[in-house]
Amino acid sequence: MSEQTSPIQPAAAARPARVMSGMRVSGRLHIGHFFGALQNWVKLQSEYECFFGAMDWHGMTTAYKSPQEIGPWTREMIAEFIAWGVDPEKSTLFIQSHVPEHLELFMIFANLTPMGWLERVNTWKDAVDEMKSTDTHNLGRFAYPVLQAADIAIYRAQKIPVGADQVAHLEISREIVRRFNHLYKAKLPEMNPLLTEVPLVTGLDGRKMSKSYGNTLYLTEDSEKDLKKKVNMMVTDTARVRREDVGEPTRCSVYGYHKLYSTTEDLEWVEQGCRSAGIGCGDCKGRLAANIEKISAGPREKKKELLNNSNLLDSIINAGCEKARKEAQLTLKIVRKSMKWS
Ligand code: SF4
Repeated sequence: MSEQTSPIQPAAAARPARVMSGMRVSGRLHIGHFFGALQNWVKLQSEYECFFGAMDWHGMTTAYKSPQEIGPWTREMIAEFIAWGVDPEKSTLFIQSHVPEHLELFMIFANLTPMGWLERVNTWKDAVDEMKSTDTHNLGRFAYPVLQAADIAIYRAQKIPVGADQVAHLEISREIVRRFNHLYKAKLPEMNPLLTEVPLVTGLDGRKMSKSYGNTLYLTEDSEKDLKKKVNMMVTDTARVRREDVGEPTRCSVYGYHKLYSTTEDLEWVEQGCRSAGIGCGDCKGRLAANIEKISAGPREKKKELLNNSNLLDSIINAGCEKARKEAQLTLKIVRKSMKWS
């Protein structure tokens, strides 16, 4: 087959590289999701051919006891993607379980992935105790990296946006695809990391952001009033006990959030005011809450509109899933042909 007509990468030279990324459906999106991924997706969609997914099968690994929650969370997630600027005209937005080919490729990959590879995955080793206590020590969770490899390969994606600390996580996907290609003399593209800068986003108390710690700032679920309340409760520089004490912003979570949400002028105002005791923590928090609200008000409204307009949201979801499915079906054809299994 000539390079021009190869179905593996049909027109790779003629169009931008294909990017795939997804988010596990596990509840409402918080600001870590935005600064860790969503913000970057909005930029990537102008440069690459993008497939962005709400990964509900991955959500099921932990939510299997309350599957009724997965559907509403998934719709909300897609609405949230759009509300924050992912454009369904530019990017293909899909729901993982609406493209059953993910699971077919997963099964093929599962058979050629040695157990030892999965046992060595750090996230599995690190989370074993937690998984036992939350009753999520299950086969689905164990095989998570295999499904992840299938999620990417099913779209023949070449680039995966990741932060520097996540590059190693991609390696097992690459190994699985390499093994597939080696066994069946196939040419599925090996996915490469597309390095992106991911700012550090801590919880409101400075610890890792986690629902179980109650230190989460949601992207759109928090109303203006909730936002203010949460920001007011944030931990500040403990050395600044009284208003006249000088503080050090780098020791304060509020400053960390200002770096995410505030302008350069506001940052200077915080730095100078804190170090000279020219401003109080209440002023500083008030400015932060206002800046967060400025950025969140539009998307909050847009998401609400979308969720209230089921027909529109459904048509966006259906169109995205249909487009994703076409690509996935083409990949499976290629896969089965390579395996001489039809
Ligand atoms: Fe933190 Fe702002 Fe108070 Fe300084 S003034 S300690 S940065 S809240």
